[in-house]
Amino acid sequence: MPNCMGYIVKCSKCGKESWDNISWKCECGAPFNIVLEEKFSIDLIDKKNYSIWRYKKFYPYIRDSMVTLGEGFTPIIKFENNLWFKLDFLMPTGSYKDRGSSTLISGITSNLKGIRYVSEDSSGNAGASIAAYCAKAGLKAKIFVPENASGPKLFQIKKYGAEVYTVKGRREDVSAAAQNARDSIYVGHSWHPYFKDGIRTLAYEIAEQMDWKTFDNILLPVSAGTLLLGVILGFNHLLDSGIIDKMPKIIACQTSQVSPLYHKMKGSRYVQPEKILSVADALITTNPPLLEEMYNMMKKIDGDAEIVDENEIIKAHNSLAKKGVYVEPSSAVAYAVYLKLLKEKKLSERESVLIILTGSGLKSMI
Ligand SMILES: [Zn+2]
Repeated sequence: MPNCMGYIVKCSKCGKESWDNISWKCECGAPFNIVLEEKFSIDLIDKKNYSIWRYKKFYPYIRDSMVTLGEGFTPIIKFENNLWFKLDFLMPTGSYKDRGSSTLISGITSNLKGIRYVSEDSSGNAGASIAAYCAKAGLKAKIFVPENASGPKLFQIKKYGAEVYTVKGRREDVSAAAQNARDSIYVGHSWHPYFKDGIRTLAYEIAEQMDWKTFDNILLPVSAGTLLLGVILGFNHLLDSGIIDKMPKIIACQTSQVSPLYHKMKGSRYVQPEKILSVADALITTNPPLLEEMYNMMKKIDGDAEIVDENEIIKAHNSLAKKGVYVEPSSAVAYAVYLKLLKEKKLSERESVLIILTGSGLKSMI
């Protein structure tokens, strides 16, 4: 395939290319990545568009038919001292996932007509987000959820008109059911390259909102890995294009119950609990398909990982709310890690820190 497309969809492991836009996994079993051939240029930003689509020029696989609900360009606030928050819970469906859902649904519908059903597996936020963008695009969504899914997120998925299927067993069983759904195209957010690729906009926004300077550290919660990888992809693109001059230190924040990346990075064995009983109910991917890629990427950029326990998460969650910031407990995990690193003097107040707050408190019942 000639390179005039401006991008390549390439296997992260064997390098095989894919051009059909609905393949979500390579024959070798590894996930695909979008490799951009164009450099980032500030002149190509659509400055009158205050959504992720101000960066449309850097999404060559999406033609004119964007499926958008006005996602993106969320505020960055200085919270205290040298600590800043990116308020990415201020999104149409209440979570950062809308970045990926918008590019994913736009990508599949602008290149392939005649799709009616798509299937997705999710424990909440991604399911609600995909359901919303499918509703906007006139697609029917089948969302497969674990049997313990409940509360506002499940209600939200149903309200958007998606068909909800409850699957017993482990998180992997829920994925398998979605992948094998009849008459559907699987658009699982953990797998499909268009989803992860939409998260690049988060890095672009952070850099642009800070006048193309970067923070010393960026802390973010990690589960399936799309947020982590998307942010790194975006910063790498800016770095390779000479727009920024350093990669921020990326710190992956996990719970002590669900911490496969942390353990892999520290060289210790991760033993998953029989049952996950964490208040951070959005962080439940114990065996992420993107683990290898996350690990390799974090090694390359000299990133780090940290874990916090339930008490630390609850304390951080309450402390944020007491200062006016109402996020879901999974988002508070990154703030809990910040407090821990500060206490252990692994982080100094002189260093600038940005925490990405990913999900709204209105979606939780804790
Ligand atoms: Zn491959």
